[in-house]
Amino acid sequence: MALSEFELIERYFRARDGRRPEVRVGIGDDGAVIAPPAEADLVVALDTLIAGVHFPENTSPFDIGWKALAVNLSDLAAMGAEPAWFTLALTLPEADEAWLAAFSEGLFELAGRWNIALVGGDTTRGPLTVSVQIAGQVPRGEALLRAGARPGDGLWVSGTLGDAALALQDILSGTEPDPAQRRRLDRPEPRLATGMGLRGLARCAIDISDGLLADIAHLLAASPGTGALILQDSIPLSAATRARVEALPVHWKSVLDGGDDYELCFCVPPEREAEVGELAERTGEALTRIGTILDTPGLWLESLDGHRQAVTPHGYTHFDHERAAP
Ligand code: ADP
Ligand code: MG
Repeated sequence: MALSEFELIERYFRARDGRRPEVRVGIGDDGAVIAPPAEADLVVALDTLIAGVHFPENTSPFDIGWKALAVNLSDLAAMGAEPAWFTLALTLPEADEAWLAAFSEGLFELAGRWNIALVGGDTTRGPLTVSVQIAGQVPRGEALLRAGARPGDGLWVSGTLGDAALALQDILSGTEPDPAQRRRLDRPEPRLATGMGLRGLARCAIDISDGLLADIAHLLAASPGTGALILQDSIPLSAATRARVEALPVHWKSVLDGGDDYELCFCVPPEREAEVGELAERTGEALTRIGTILDTPGLWLESLDGHRQAVTPHGYTHFDHERAAP
């Protein structure tokens, strides 16, 4: 007997939903009713994952559940927000119980870590697509924006870059990816502790989802008249990525332009650099200075041999064909 839409929602989503005191009415009515905190600004974001576009078709349902929430949490991290509630729009080709069980396992594993509540959603039949809308809070006026970079600011990133893009490239070419790199593709870790810690410290922030250079270009575009100089040698790499770029320098393209890093990129005035180090120590999330904001437009890369060249971002966009879909 096939599972009805309502049984499916009850079994895999409502039964597992976390509780938060501000949620007056959660899953089950026509809308959720939430009593938002009086002293906070709400930050709302939505991201959709489509099978074959945002994750390879062979991604496990656990990882799809995890990633659908993680990419949204990454947007809240970039805003300096504390996540609180989310809704889920799920389009499925069929109501496969084993798939749903693993999907909700991955989703609620990450939701439980951050104590956030699923408060509603929508379930439809069609090609596998997962949309999450998330809301979180920041103290009034303290959200981190893309705008705000000033000449002389240090340009920083969290974590390591390029792992996910290299794993995806392997999958697309039929090669078995390095397990640690594949994990970065399937289970991004949203840098929420870093994002919240950057309130009042970073002048601007973005999460790196389209590619390092592309997302730096987005930061610069939000602060007209600014440019950036990036020191290639200082870009943080995992051991696996370091080995690959040393063996084959063309892999730098994955580090600079590859998507799916879900790390944060932010600007901090030079006199406050020590506080960034303290934040990294407090959270255990690595933070590395990779460059400087300039007072003229343009994106410059100082390569390993000390040569400076102007670079153009080639990050992922949906309506041109820079990158083939997996
Ligand atoms: P309506 O017809 O009023 O839009 P639905 O029948 O779509 O309501 O959904 C019934 C209830 O289940 C609603 O509270 C809705 O938010 C919730 N819901 C539906 N799909 C999901 C899902 N995938 N995850 C969480 N809640 C869901
Ligand atoms: Mg209704």
